[in-house]
Amino acid sequence: MKKFMSLLGLLLIGTLLLSGCSSKDVYSRPEIISSPDQAKELLIAGNQRFMSGNILAKDLSSNRRSELSKGQHPFAVIVSCSDSRVPPEEIFDQALGDLFVVRVAGNVITPVELGSVEYAVEHLKVPLVLVLGHEKCGAITAAVEGGKALGSISAITEKIMPALKEIKNTEGDKETVIEKTAELNVLNSLQSISQSPVIKHALGESHKLYGGKYRLETGEIQWPDTSKIF
Ligand SMILES: [Zn+2]
Repeated sequence: MKKFMSLLGLLLIGTLLLSGCSSKDVYSRPEIISSPDQAKELLIAGNQRFMSGNILAKDLSSNRRSELSKGQHPFAVIVSCSDSRVPPEEIFDQALGDLFVVRVAGNVITPVELGSVEYAVEHLKVPLVLVLGHEKCGAITAAVEGGKALGSISAITEKIMPALKEIKNTEGDKETVIEKTAELNVLNSLQSISQSPVIKHALGESHKLYGGKYRLETGEIQWPDTSKIF
């Protein structure tokens, strides 16, 4: 009996410690974030947690879902590739209601993607837009390898061609061409977004555009300086 009681005591202490840890480590942020700089800091911090493996617990409770059913206040629009290795909520360690995500192979911008970005900026007042490319992108590789694209895949590769045409003339092996095309393709997508009258009107201190590239093995997102372009 004595043994049983001390075991029960240990179990209780263990449970208390565990519950204490999990409540301390649940991710939270201010509900309204209107500064693009603050939004960028949150993304960088989340990516650092992801890289180091110290991801936080997320509130997926019915209470949180109920709160969010009244409205959403995401703080960043992420235009990223559909690639299964690059899920924005995971790589930025974010939760329900945090990111407005537009995913399309090759992170290209057509009127449909642009409309989604415009909606988020204009109606949801999201302060930051990030176009995120990544290493070893299948869509970019398909464009580089050429050949006849099946079905509607050519609708994607055609959007990548302007970047590829520019990069093809530079020195480098196939892998280098793929990576450089991916980087220029991000800038081209940003250019398309920045030319939208809705976005043009919003850009400034309250809204900013960024480009990024995700490294598959390290999990790191690199943020090239695009402040002079957009
Ligand atoms: Zn991709």
